[in-house]
Amino acid sequence: MPEGHTIHRLAQDYTAAFARTAVHVTSPQGKFADSAALLDHTALDTADAHGKHLFLGFGAAENPGWVHIHLGLFGKVTFGPTPAPPPTDTVRLRLANDTAYVDLRGPTTCALITDPEKQAIHDRLGPDPLRPDADPGAAHRRISRSRSTIAALLMDQKVIAGVGNVYRAEVLFRHGIDPYRPGRDITPAEWHAIWHDLVALMREGVRNNRIDAVRPEHTPEAMNRPPRVDDHGGEVYVYRRANQSCHLCGDPIRTADLAARNLFWCPTCQQQ
Ligand SMILES: [Zn+2]
Repeated sequence: MPEGHTIHRLAQDYTAAFARTAVHVTSPQGKFADSAALLDHTALDTADAHGKHLFLGFGAAENPGWVHIHLGLFGKVTFGPTPAPPPTDTVRLRLANDTAYVDLRGPTTCALITDPEKQAIHDRLGPDPLRPDADPGAAHRRISRSRSTIAALLMDQKVIAGVGNVYRAEVLFRHGIDPYRPGRDITPAEWHAIWHDLVALMREGVRNNRIDAVRPEHTPEAMNRPPRVDDHGGEVYVYRRANQSCHLCGDPIRTADLAARNLFWCPTCQQQ
């Protein structure tokens, strides 16, 4: 599943390609056809992201509303220049203007919603490190009351929005924190450090459109080691490195199922 940096990058890319232009909106697959007809030839005003939720704001003057998109596990977005190829019948939503098109396939959610409905989604999500309005204290208040592990809490979108399996594993490693520690044992200072690290890592993720989690002194060049080969790209300390040697201590990285996803960590480096 894409993490928050991917969704914020998509918001930027939709805006760059379509903002303030009249957009031809279609749903070749048909499931979004009625809403597409309402939006067709209105202007895309803005795009917004909160965690893994993307919102495309259309036609403020006539107020048709927001297209709410959640990619889920299988959703895919493809941008391209015009002329757009004939759409396949798997395209839920196509936007096109004179210069570009974008296809959305296989999302969990693609729905036209109102301002209050959008606000209700914001209200049930935790703070997003990539949003300027985010309040990290709101996340810590929930974490400090919870017996759940910090690794599970970081994946709970009601606690903090946008962190997925890669960022949770990497940020806990970067702070030497045992992923099985209960949330209520995480100190305000530790949370402050984790949050600000996530802000920096995820902003870099938006810029580069991939996750790089290693510090400058641990890059392949700095350590004279081969770069990682993985379809997720990016350099990491622990994610998908089960049984490989830790870049810091050399002990094997471990994996276990936690919050329905594979957790990766170094038991030697993460004892705090
Ligand atoms: Zn280690």
